[in-house]
Order: sequence, then structure tokens, then C-alpha cells
Amino acid sequence: MRLLRIFNKKVKFSSIRYYSVVRQGFEYVNEDDVNYFKSVLGERNVITDEEELAIVNTDWLKTMKGSSGVLLQPSCPSEVSKVLSYCNSRRLAVVPQGGNTGLVGGSVPIFDEIVLSTKRLNKILSLDPVTGILSCESGCILEALDNKAAEYDLMMPLDLGAKGSCHIGGNVATNAGGIRLLRYGNLHGSILGLEAVLANGERLDMMTTNKKDNTGYDLKHLFVGSEGTLGIITKVAVQCAQRPNSFHVAFLGLESFENVLKTVQSAKQSLNEILSSCEFMDDESMECVTKNLGLRLPIQRHPFYMLLETSGSSSYHDEEKLNDFLEKSFNSGVILDGTLTGEPSKIKDMWALRERIAEGLLRDGYCYKYDVSVPLSKFYDLVTDMRERLGSSVVRCCGYGHLGDGNLHLNLTGEIFDPDVFALIEPYVYERVGDWKGSISAEHGLGYKKRNYIHLSKSQSAISLMQQLKSLLDPNGILNPYKVLPSFK
Ligand SMILES: Cc1cc2nc3c(=O)[nH]c(=O)nc-3n(C[C@H](O)[C@H](O)[C@H](O)COP(=O)(O)OP(=O)(O)OC[C@H]3O[C@@H](n4cnc5c(N)ncnc54)[C@H](O)[C@@H]3O)c2cc1C
Repeated sequence: MRLLRIFNKKVKFSSIRYYSVVRQGFEYVNEDDVNYFKSVLGERNVITDEEELAIVNTDWLKTMKGSSGVLLQPSCPSEVSKVLSYCNSRRLAVVPQGGNTGLVGGSVPIFDEIVLSTKRLNKILSLDPVTGILSCESGCILEALDNKAAEYDLMMPLDLGAKGSCHIGGNVATNAGGIRLLRYGNLHGSILGLEAVLANGERLDMMTTNKKDNTGYDLKHLFVGSEGTLGIITKVAVQCAQRPNSFHVAFLGLESFENVLKTVQSAKQSLNEILSSCEFMDDESMECVTKNLGLRLPIQRHPFYMLLETSGSSSYHDEEKLNDFLEKSFNSGVILDGTLTGEPSKIKDMWALRERIAEGLLRDGYCYKYDVSVPLSKFYDLVTDMRERLGSSVVRCCGYGHLGDGNLHLNLTGEIFDPDVFALIEPYVYERVGDWKGSISAEHGLGYKKRNYIHLSKSQSAISLMQQLKSLLDPNGILNPYKVLPSFK
């Protein structure tokens, strides 16, 4: 029995829309398979209902669509292990899915792959208030973990706009960055241990909580950023940060990108240890959130804006430092306008202007999204270049991002997906980034959408070793096929 279903007729299947891809020789799910899954997970956790499947077959951006006929919801690592072992022996392909907030099409099937959701793997296992180490299952929602950490004056070392939906397992699988990376670094540093279930069902226990452990190869790093292609992450141990008790946010208006760069440098110098975020938005991005979402800017319109956040342990000290920095920047003419707040509700409003851009862009219709690392000297050139190249063929061409980390979010919108516009954007945009020795994926990973451009950021020998590792850990290629690597065999 073939459980193939068709949903969401407006969006073309991903296997046709972006570039043609051929289904690999996996088996199709049959009735015996469904019965086996039910015997392991219970009837309710093997979902074949069309409406529920439509949700997991479509990505957050509503640009990717698969046709899976089965959603599995295990509740513990041993269930994940049994299911994977079975799928491997039957050669059934599986897509691990966390909160499904990924933006490169990694979390949804391309054809009829089984979707394995981690949403029931949601137990917090321990939180040590002295070391700040939190151990949990991979389906815990990031915001829920942060709330738990807050009870102990701790904080998750990462924060992103999707925190209310994304899972910590998805964060680790994509090596998520976000707005705290400037201060706390990426997840290769703050994930101390993890457990992953390999394609053959074997549970690989790397759940150490030692900050220092130099015994052999540190295999957990293979899974950080592996996007579900090497194993399913079932548990993680995270080093939380001490929760600052004083937060301030400054929202600034600037005339030129040159002045934006000057402000980054002086903010790092003057605010030093209390600078926790350094974000950048252009006027097109702000026009989008004001027009499409009805948000209000706290200052007049300017070509460029910056959002600086400080966090520390003494409000008086932090505010004094920020005031001093702002005064100098105004006096030198580098900043034209700005406002500063330490009030939680106003801080939230200012962050919303930055964090809700992605949502606002979707209201234009279709969004072509690029999340790249570029040298700061070239940071905004990519936006102006694309603006010139695309002219009126797009509704909007805007740039914003984690400036402190050299991470640009380049976004272009149109009313609908247009293959001719798409052909003007790709591969051009990736080639420019490659020419500048940037990375075609600063966040989010490669997923399905970017996998064919990996050679622009990684050497052939590195790609070849990745392919060998994939073959070693998942010889049948059942885990998240058609993702990350250009071809597996
Ligand atoms: C509004 C918005 C803002 C965002 N901001 C940022 C940002 O600032 N920084 C950033 O890095 N990202 C950002 N993202 C992207 C996204 O939220 C992150 O990539 C996030 O880490 C994905 O987590 P998830 O649980 O939703 O994973 P999913 O989308 O479900 O999956 C992402 C990938 O990880 C794999 N995966 C998921 N769970 C597991 C697991 N347990 N084991 C193995 N593989 C797994 C999937 O197969 C897929 O390849 C944003 C997204 C949105 C919608």
C-alpha cells in the first residue's frame, strides 16, 4: 500500500519547484510498517491523518512541500532507536523534525519520507544551579528551557526569533546562532554532551557534562550542525549562562553604512564586556515591519538602524557606559538619532522591530531568503548589488542581520515565486559570497535549498570526507536524504 498524499495545491512539490530531483530507491511505507510503528509507539502516535500531515509536510516559509504519509511521534530515545532500526532494515527514509522553523527546507520531506517528530521528547532531565548545566531531551522548546533556567538566575546561551517553537535538538542540529552569539559563542562551545540515535538504531551516548574532556575525538561536534543526516539527537547537555539582571537596549538611526561600521567598532571598544547584541537593519526592513505588521519605529526614518543590547550585573554601571558611548557617537556625528531604554516592555517592543522582520516579509507574498557570512567591509554591498540587479522585478530587497557576527540576512520578496527572478538570484548570490570568501550559510545550514552550493564554502576534500562520514554512519542513506550534501553516493 502506497501512502502518498497530495496537499496544499497552491505550492508545488519541492522536488519540482527548485530543481528537479529523483526519488532514491527507498521502499514505500506499507500497512505492515504502520502496524509495526503502532506496536512500538501506540496507535495515537502514528499519524496518517491528512490535515495533520499537511502541517509537517510544509515548512515555516510555506515554500517547501513534501508528500509524507506517516508522522511518527516517539516519546523516548529507546522508541526512536526501535523505529530507526526498523526503518534501516526496511530501507525506509526518515526526516527528523523538531519545531519545523528551519528556513532551508531541511525539516520537511522531499518525497514520501517518514517524518519523525521529536515533540514528545520533552523532558528536562536535570539542572545544576552551581555549574549551570542543563540536561534535557531534544524536543524541549527553547523558550521553555530558558524559562526553566530563569528560575535559577540562569539563561540559555542562545536566543532567536523562533524560540517559542524551535526545539533544542533542532537548534543543535542546525548549530543555531541568533542574537546572543556575540557574547556566548556558538553551540560547538556550549553543548557539553549529547546522545544521538544512529540510522541502525544504535544509541550513541556522549552525554558528558564535563567542561573539559580531551579523551579522543570529540564526536558530539559531528552532530552539531549535521541537520539530521547523521543521527537523531535525543538528549543534550547545555552550559547555561548566568542571567544578567540588567538589560538595556539602544535603537539608533544612521546616515551611511560606513557610519554603521564605525559604530560597531566603537561599541565593541566602549561597551566591551556588557555588549550582548549588535544588530543591524536597513530602512527597507523597517518599512516592512511598520507597513506589513503595523509596528512603530521609536525614532525618525533613516537609511540605516542599529539595535545594541547591553546586559550585565549593575544597571547603574551599564546605563552610564551606554550614555557615555551614545553621547560621544552623537557628538562626532556618527549617529544621527537614537533612543535608549532599560524598561522591559520597551525593550521588548524594540526587539520586535528586529525579530519580526522575517514574519513581515512573508506578508509581501513570497520571500527569497539568504543568510550569509560576508566580510564586514562587503556586508552591505551584497544588498545594493542585488537591488541593482533585480530592480522592479522584486517587491523588496532588504538587508538586516547579526552585524556583530558578520552575518547578513539578505531578503528579496515578490508576490509569488517567480522562476525567472529565482534564476537571476541563484547561483549569482552564492557566487558573490564565495568570491569574497564568505559562507553561503551563516545560520540555518544547507538543508535542501543550498546543498548544491556547498562547494562555494567548503573544499572538495572536505566535502568528500563528509560524504565518507555519511556513508559510514548511515550506509543506506535513510536519514534526511536529499539534504546537506549534493549527492550521497
Ligand atoms: C522567525 C525566525 C527566526 C529565526 N532566527 C534564527 C536565528 O536568529 N538564528 C538561527 O540560527 N536560526 C534562526 N531561525 C531558523 C530556525 O529557527 C533554526 O534553524 C532552529 O534551530 C531550528 O530548530 P527546529 O526545532 O525548528 O528545527 P527544524 O526546523 O524542525 O529542523 C531543522 C533541521 O534540523 C534537523 N533536526 C531537527 N531536530 C533534530 C534532532 N533532534 N536530531 C537531528 N536532526 C534534527 C531537521 O531534520 C532539519 O534538517 C529562525 C527561524 C524563524 C522562523
